Amino acid sequence: MIKKDFIEKLLDVFRQVEGSYSVVLLTDDKLIAARDPYGVRPFIMGKLGDSYIFASETTTLDILNAEYVREVEPGEIIVIDDEVVKTGKEKSYFIDKAEKYKHCIFEYIYFSRPDSQIFGEKVDKVRRKIGASLAIENPPPDKDNPGDDEEKKVIIINVPDSSNTATLGYFNECVKKTKNIKHEIGLIRSHYVGRTFIEPGQDHRQMKVKTKFNIVKGVLNNRKVVIVDDSIVRGTTIKLLVDLIKQANPKEIHLRITSPPIISPCYYGMDFPSKEELIANQYRGSVEEIRKALNVDSLNYLSVDRLLDSVPRTSEKTDYCTACFTGKYPIPIETENEKVKAKFDE
Ligand code: SF4
Repeated sequence: MIKKDFIEKLLDVFRQVEGSYSVVLLTDDKLIAARDPYGVRPFIMGKLGDSYIFASETTTLDILNAEYVREVEPGEIIVIDDEVVKTGKEKSYFIDKAEKYKHCIFEYIYFSRPDSQIFGEKVDKVRRKIGASLAIENPPPDKDNPGDDEEKKVIIINVPDSSNTATLGYFNECVKKTKNIKHEIGLIRSHYVGRTFIEPGQDHRQMKVKTKFNIVKGVLNNRKVVIVDDSIVRGTTIKLLVDLIKQANPKEIHLRITSPPIISPCYYGMDFPSKEELIANQYRGSVEEIRKALNVDSLNYLSVDRLLDSVPRTSEKTDYCTACFTGKYPIPIETENEKVKAKFDE
């Protein structure tokens, strides 16, 4: 039997914490999981026999052959002890209940694995839909030309692995309207190098990008190429990729991005660069200026409205944080220079 004062102390602690968190605590006889009231990050509970598992993504359960039970609800504290193991019924308490959840929309764009289920929906399904929305809003160039000539078709390529799924969504939507396109593998990624935008230090990152990708020249040579990517943060990676692809002598390079321009840092758990380092801010939000800087023939981003239309509303409370695209922070933040109030009600 858990003493009442222990739970009260836990609730008291979490009620004083503002922001985004998914916490797992281990005491001598309890496993405790807590999620912030806005449910910013995904957080799930699974079981393997009598054992309980807490993780961000359901893929963890797949690896362990464990079963998915449910999400840790936003604002919930779940306590597992011997009694729970015997009865099979977890103990649940609530820190606070927000009027609306504020799930991180970037999880569906990039952070979560496509084979995961988050916020009540499969990431693969949502990411394809985001890709399809981009195709509707920003189709490839030249869509009604040149019929069945294989050699002249526009080549759609993904940036492996992060844009694979969205590119399928983009291509499948485009192909409904034109036969003038082909989905090809034009970039090959080495799997021995990790993510790049969270690497500290510019030189180190540039070196990593160079060793991370290679081009399939025969696929890209003399073709109109559409690169579908999930986001542009500093622009370092995509700039190097464009330079790399140019070595294959394509006719044109067009960039399609499955997110809006990133204009603000994330204060809810993602290590984004400062505002000044973000390429969208360096060019004062001018997509044309960014296009020129990246040296491509066209550049289009998905709009915030289309993005919001593409993500699921699995409950009445479901809503999303879009702060890095809009600067509207749903949970108050305090930076070195300023206090920023929550802006989502405006
Ligand atoms: S600021 Fe962007 S990355 Fe951070 S939680 Fe909001 S949507 Fe996600």
